[in-house]
Amino acid sequence: MKIHQIFTHNALRNFTYYIEFDNNEVIIIDPWDAKQAKDFINSKELKLTTIINTHEHWDHTQGNQELVDTYGCEVWAHIVGQGKIPAQSRLLEPGESIRFDKHTTMQVIDTPGHCQAHLCFIVEYKGKPHCIFTGDILFNAGVGNCHNGGDVEDLYETICTKIATLPDTIIVYPGHDYLQNNLRFTLKHEPNNTQAQLWLEKYNQSNINDKPLTTTLFDEKQINTFLRLDNKEIQSHLALNNPSKKDIFIALRSLRDQW
Ligand SMILES: [Zn+2]
Repeated sequence: MKIHQIFTHNALRNFTYYIEFDNNEVIIIDPWDAKQAKDFINSKELKLTTIINTHEHWDHTQGNQELVDTYGCEVWAHIVGQGKIPAQSRLLEPGESIRFDKHTTMQVIDTPGHCQAHLCFIVEYKGKPHCIFTGDILFNAGVGNCHNGGDVEDLYETICTKIATLPDTIIVYPGHDYLQNNLRFTLKHEPNNTQAQLWLEKYNQSNINDKPLTTTLFDEKQINTFLRLDNKEIQSHLALNNPSKKDIFIALRSLRDQW
């Protein structure tokens, strides 16, 4: 199994992912641009079997119909996305475990917050969690917004109980590249975060077309403000009166909305 993370060069900075298997079959996650996807699939002589959408927003499903028309592939998405996901053919149930091949399985995790029909997918390789496709729930150094059908309290619960509890080694594959801006947000509220400074330097030297930077959950716990709710520097910056963790999270999300 091989995972390709492809930047799509749009203003929203979407990523599309390809999970390539040894038998040349490929699964695509959140196809932004059908033409870019077809070029990728055809140049590698892969066989597209399945599209998986993390959620129903158009920037994650735009390529569905054209790819289905071209390859006759399936479209898998949240059961709650029924009627909103173009060409959906399989209704995924939270808690499902799907076997891809001898070594690879995928766990389907219900992750409301950014919108209500949002799933994250943990890929396990040889029985160990390898990576998670987080859509618009968790970004590198940030979390998704709640503007289009989301709920910030759901987002808080999802991040605390379903994301932060995963193994530190898991690789995070988000739906967008917002790393640079998110690191600046972290440094605004936690100016002494040396890891965030280092990652910003690393980002500025990286080439997203060549190889996008990836983080693990361990990295996220060091640079993602929304996973650092106990941090004293962040708390004193917010200056809330005796806040709970949820209050801090909600205040940060609101500040990030105006950032
Ligand atoms: Zn999105």
